[in-house]
Amino acid sequence: MSDLASEQAKAATAKPLGLYVHVPFCASTCDFCAFYQTKPTAEGVERFLAGIESEAALVEWTRPVTTVFWGGGTPGLLSPRDLGRLAELVHRRCGGAPAEWTVELAPASVTPQRLAALRAAGVTRVSMGIQSFQPALLDALGRQHTREQVYAAYDLLQAADFPSVNLDLMFALPGQTEAEWAADIREAVRLAPDHLSTYCLTFEEDTALWIKLSQGRVKLDPELEARLYESTWAQLAGAGYAQYEVSNFSRPGHECRHNLNTWHMEEWIGLGPSAASQSHGWRGANVADLDRWQADVSRGERVTEDRVALTPSLLAEDALIFGLRMNAGVDVAEWKHRCPRAPWAGVEELLGRLVADGLATRQGERVQLTNRGRLLADSVGAEVMEAFRPLVPA
Ligand code: SF4
Repeated sequence: MSDLASEQAKAATAKPLGLYVHVPFCASTCDFCAFYQTKPTAEGVERFLAGIESEAALVEWTRPVTTVFWGGGTPGLLSPRDLGRLAELVHRRCGGAPAEWTVELAPASVTPQRLAALRAAGVTRVSMGIQSFQPALLDALGRQHTREQVYAAYDLLQAADFPSVNLDLMFALPGQTEAEWAADIREAVRLAPDHLSTYCLTFEEDTALWIKLSQGRVKLDPELEARLYESTWAQLAGAGYAQYEVSNFSRPGHECRHNLNTWHMEEWIGLGPSAASQSHGWRGANVADLDRWQADVSRGERVTEDRVALTPSLLAEDALIFGLRMNAGVDVAEWKHRCPRAPWAGVEELLGRLVADGLATRQGERVQLTNRGRLLADSVGAEVMEAFRPLVPA
């Protein structure tokens, strides 16, 4: 191997590689949920675990996995024994324990036995979706847990002593007042997790809440949403949680590395029905159907939908969209270097406009959104997409 080739091989090995596993089981469907999930049955779980083995065997693993994320669905619904089986796969692909390994949990399924299985496997980070501490709002979301279950589950998480714990909250819920949201944040802060994710409720097509919205039974209030965003940021900053992305806050050193790598347009492999991948020069999602996915992988095929080639232009576009959602912003020079033929004149014009309008700041080649810009991150993202059209083949 030449010196250059050996340097390139070394650099490729040092690059992070994520592994996302979609565990598609939920006991019931939350009213806002657009993720692929199905009710767990013994046979379905068996087919899922066998399918994960088959799919992993079809992937060309070019380097060890560095971060792992089990999402869903509700990975925490698997039995301790099945969690152990899934963990064996992680150990094989990581060549030991990954640097970070997150598992999503729902309060109602947290048990000492499951937590012990995850801890023994080497899981470093658990993320529990609590959404709200208010019983009426949990009902409005169709969540199947109670406030008491949240506290009981949190006590168990603390006793299990995971290196990092995240809690997920949601705001702009139907009927939620500003005072109720402030109280939810206060209560989450009182529990003192290492990381908090706060998501503004979105109405995804074909969800129960979307139907209510289209029937006029719930209403959108963009001005209230903006106030809730701003009060969240102020309240969490005051409590020592640094914002590092529009919806994510952490104590020092507890940022989610897996998600950061994804937003930095690094590579990850997704296993399981509906799981997305970005690697080997393409991005796409597995079929969102347990039976079809399992049939495909068991006959040796990974069938992905919406598969696109990862051109430098596409990566640069997404690096800007996701980069601007992060507080650290994006280094435009890096992406110009990686993708010299993208339509940078249009992008520069847009960035100049964002700065002139007070929505972004620029220091050298690093561009960051201001708080006002971050409130408009979705429409800024849409403008970035516009600026990259038409894509220049690169
Ligand atoms: S628990 Fe999560 S994945 Fe399951 S239905 Fe609720 S929001 Fe969707």
